[in-house]
Amino acid sequence: MEILMTVSKIASFCTMGANASALEKDIGPEQFPVNEHYFGLVNFGNTCYCNSVLQALYFCQPFREKILAYRCQPRRKESLLTCLADLFHSIAHQKRKVGVIPPKKFITRLRKENGEGHGLFDNYLQQDAHEFLNYLLNTIADLLLEESKQEKQNGRLPNGTLDSQNNNSPPPTPTWVHDIFQGTLTNETRCLTCETVSSKDEDFLDLSVDVEQNTSITHCLRGFSNTETLCSEYKYYCEECRSKQEAHKRMRVKRLPMILALHLKRFKYMEQLHRYTKLSYRVVFPLELRLFNTSGAATNPERLYDLVAVVVHCGSGPNRGHYIAIVKSHDFWLLFDDDIVERIDAQALEEFYGLTSEISKNSESGYILFYQSRD
Ligand SMILES: [Zn+2]
Repeated sequence: MEILMTVSKIASFCTMGANASALEKDIGPEQFPVNEHYFGLVNFGNTCYCNSVLQALYFCQPFREKILAYRCQPRRKESLLTCLADLFHSIAHQKRKVGVIPPKKFITRLRKENGEGHGLFDNYLQQDAHEFLNYLLNTIADLLLEESKQEKQNGRLPNGTLDSQNNNSPPPTPTWVHDIFQGTLTNETRCLTCETVSSKDEDFLDLSVDVEQNTSITHCLRGFSNTETLCSEYKYYCEECRSKQEAHKRMRVKRLPMILALHLKRFKYMEQLHRYTKLSYRVVFPLELRLFNTSGAATNPERLYDLVAVVVHCGSGPNRGHYIAIVKSHDFWLLFDDDIVERIDAQALEEFYGLTSEISKNSESGYILFYQSRD
């Protein structure tokens, strides 16, 4: 058994090597970007949800830079963030340009933090990549907030100067995770009797949008911001009228994030089936995106976004399937399928829009899109 394992491991490493050098040849020595590394990640048993998100984040340049900068700070006790920083550092400092890395320490830490066997990211279940992204970004933000709080308590500001006036604690300063991914939605409600508009803001690190057959991301975002009428039993309590009134409600983007992470709600609970099913709908995602559902108060509603990464779900349902990542690096596109890395044409992205046919639920379709602002 042991021997068989070893032989098959060696065999698989050999194919990895062949694949890696094929990629190097495919890109060519002249075109290969300086200081760039394309490394596949070993799958530790259903960890593709994790590998695909990590690759997408690695190619979100502002995020990568912050993680690598964090690695340069004085060593802290091990956390999911230090493990991620070590992983990114190890990819960025490989001697070879292409290859495979086992993200073992990161996965071990992830499993440890989530209570092996009964946790959120149990080894034996196929996990949801969006849930993982959310968990990872929130965990990093919490760790950074905790560290800056500790530094303030020690009388030091993050830049190393002494803080002389920290008597009344200011509101928590946003971390770089917020600087990169956080946007703000505004929920506007207009009373149809007195026309008073009241609005409530809500921050987000990613946006989840409903999907429809044969549409585009822009259409999905419009749907997200469609005006809803609150009437009959759903009437709205208007402070001006001091009574329940009919109202119009709409959700708009008030502050546009630097990196917009869009989650397509492809897994839907079907009452009749008592389980989640996958919506393989064809949803076109453009290489360039502008938001049309911004509020009048937005400071940069014209912000232009470029697609930089896509996490793709392959398969028929949330509990069966596979995740891969497609990323843009310099001027070309790469597909990361665990330990395999391939160069693909930009046109090949169309294959990941989804399916026009209603019958087949089995598809390779865009699940999380990462758009980076050009300014
Ligand atoms: Zn009113």
